[in-house]
Amino acid sequence: MPELPEVETILQTLRPKLLGRTIERVEVLLNRVIREPDAEQFAKDISGQTLIGVERRGKYLLFKLTGSLVLVVHLRMTGRLLYVAPGFPRDQYTHVVFYLDNGKELLFHDMRRFGTIDLIPADRLKTFHSLNKLGPDALDPSLTRDVFKKRLKGRSGQIKKILLDQTFITGIGNIYANEILWKARIHPERSATSLTPRDLGRLYHAMREVLMTAIDHRGTTIRDYVDGEGKPGSFQELLAVHGRENQPCPLCGNSIVRVKNGGRSAYFCPSCQK
Ligand SMILES: [Zn+2]
Repeated sequence: MPELPEVETILQTLRPKLLGRTIERVEVLLNRVIREPDAEQFAKDISGQTLIGVERRGKYLLFKLTGSLVLVVHLRMTGRLLYVAPGFPRDQYTHVVFYLDNGKELLFHDMRRFGTIDLIPADRLKTFHSLNKLGPDALDPSLTRDVFKKRLKGRSGQIKKILLDQTFITGIGNIYANEILWKARIHPERSATSLTPRDLGRLYHAMREVLMTAIDHRGTTIRDYVDGEGKPGSFQELLAVHGRENQPCPLCGNSIVRVKNGGRSAYFCPSCQK
């Protein structure tokens, strides 16, 4: 699933191409991808709108339009937004086509069909049900080390589960939670209440460093992630633990262990992570 670094990379590839472009019309090939309003109204409302801003909140992409509307996209497991030339091949997973005024197309493509699109008035953004419960973005400048520590205070449960909880901090999924905890040398099943102030400081810096390095490498492509131009990322080559069961820890050489935890795999080094 695209996590913060992948969604940020998609944003960075699409922003220069989409800003100032007008959506001339839209073709919805799978109605249920559009949650709000209904597909017919969606196509009517978005036609003629110009893109004036592209932002990210956690794993959500927010496309600001003239007419005080915001297009909210969540790619979930396998969603893609592809900026392509006309004639680019479509398949049964091409669900929405945005026709732009420069002749190019923006395709929403999703093999698993869990991705969602909403078109809402800009003044509803703050109260919109999918966004209003999200915690601060993991790279939000206002999320300082002190704010991070304060938010974690009083949280019980395993630290990895808390990192994955989008109401705590938004943007981190399974791959980066595994990598961040390895970098911070914290066991994924460690109770949050047992973490010392030093642990929390290391965790905060590991979170920032792992996410920013992953953005520098244009995200992680394990199965199907590609950016807005259809290019894969390269951070998978730098993964220390995720997907590396029985392979040596880059730090100590001991074997990486995988444990199933709540339907997801935790990968960690039992020697480095306590
Ligand atoms: Zn190790």
